[in-house]
Amino acid sequence: MNTAHKNYDVAVIGGGPAGASAAAFMARSGLEVCVLEQKNFPRQKVCGEFISPAGWSVLADLNVSSRLQAMAGPALQHVEVYPEWGLELRGALPVHADGHCARAIGRDVLDFILLHRAAELGAAIFQPVHVSQVRGGARTGFEVFVAGWPLPLRARAVVLAHGSPRLGAMNSPSPGHHRTASRPDAPLSDIAGWLCFKIHLENVHLPDDTIAIGGVEGLYAGLVRTGSSGPTPNAGPVTCMPRYNLAFVVERRLLRQYGSAAELYGYLQEHNNGFGRCLRHARPIGDFLACGPMEPGVRQVYDDGRIFVGNAAGEVHALIGEGLTLALGAGQLLGRVIGEHRATLAGSNNLATVGATYGARWLDQLGSRLRWGNVFSQVLMQPMLSALATAYLHAFPDIFSMCIRWSGKQAVISRPKPQTGAANVR
Ligand SMILES: Cc1cc2nc3c(=O)[nH]c(=O)nc-3n(C[C@H](O)[C@H](O)[C@H](O)COP(=O)(O)OP(=O)(O)OC[C@H]3O[C@@H](n4cnc5c(N)ncnc54)[C@H](O)[C@@H]3O)c2cc1C
Repeated sequence: MNTAHKNYDVAVIGGGPAGASAAAFMARSGLEVCVLEQKNFPRQKVCGEFISPAGWSVLADLNVSSRLQAMAGPALQHVEVYPEWGLELRGALPVHADGHCARAIGRDVLDFILLHRAAELGAAIFQPVHVSQVRGGARTGFEVFVAGWPLPLRARAVVLAHGSPRLGAMNSPSPGHHRTASRPDAPLSDIAGWLCFKIHLENVHLPDDTIAIGGVEGLYAGLVRTGSSGPTPNAGPVTCMPRYNLAFVVERRLLRQYGSAAELYGYLQEHNNGFGRCLRHARPIGDFLACGPMEPGVRQVYDDGRIFVGNAAGEVHALIGEGLTLALGAGQLLGRVIGEHRATLAGSNNLATVGATYGARWLDQLGSRLRWGNVFSQVLMQPMLSALATAYLHAFPDIFSMCIRWSGKQAVISRPKPQTGAANVR
């Protein structure tokens, strides 16, 4: 039974892909773990929903890949790049050494099943509960304060998986779920940085095995066939018609100029030929979801008993489609490190060893992918630079294949079908 009145080995704040996978791997190693998640699942979330082959490999390690693939979109074998100016590109997506292909899946399904898996493996789940503050350190242990609970929950270590750079280490009290820490009621158009939108669509003209990326000045988008809508708490999986996911990020000034997500959608269709073709007859399923700001960069990985995973540790630009894989990879890495130190976990020195090992491996295995991803997105986000880049890649298609791998999809072998080994030009 889930109880807030016992001492946990680890309390995980946030039940998204990073928190749920970290909890699942740690519970599998035999630790007493709990997850505190503020939303009820299943719920939608702004995301491109693309999971690269390495991410599916982590899901297989948790024994959920078959369950998830039954509700995911088809295997993705190609990426098409639609720049505002210049040539469109088509390249092959790699396959993981263990045979997994990239696929997209709804966040309603992914997050629900992952958290359920953590529970199956023994993690206690508290949901919906909002964590307002975390106090303590490796020497004393931690108190986790939950809005509306009379007493804090206690744990020896804390995993921060809240997905937000602004919440950081959660040392100070937080007033609630909000868009920025300093300005809870700020309209979205007043928030600095990149703002993010997503909508599910049907009747999209895009090959099933292809993800399209590209955009127009100040707006960058990804479009992919995603999975069916997912399980509900009281019923089994619900099958519905194929859906596509369109996610885009925009500079704040554009939202001010266009006024709404629907107008920005029109702007993309009108000024980008590739997206215009794909979306000509598209019909929305539901409304636009919005969030922001997106703040790419590496943050903090360990601090005195607080361990950071997923976007809380570092955010990769949405355009690269690697955030979920990095989140899942961090959870797997943490599970492995904690598993190695399980017998000696009690005591602040041992926790520091876990933190140092996890931090070093995180930077080694995930940090460089995150930095490369952010470099590529900087190029793709500037129309002039991306026109030059696509012209160059048109001339040297093998380099395009290399860029696809550098953007994060490294642990791969080449695709078995020879004709898809290199990039093509449309
Ligand atoms: C527009 C856009 C498109 C993207 N497209 C892709 C893509 O195609 N592929 C890809 O791999 N990545 C993509 N990403 C990135 C991906 O969405 C993130 O990297 C991923 O969600 C990070 O997972 P996480 O678990 O760290 O954080 P989240 O998924 O944000 O999960 C954090 C969880 O913590 C909970 N939480 C937060 N605060 C509290 C609190 N105080 N108390 C309790 N619970 C709390 C939240 O409710 C949430 O469920 C995209 C991102 C954006 C914005």
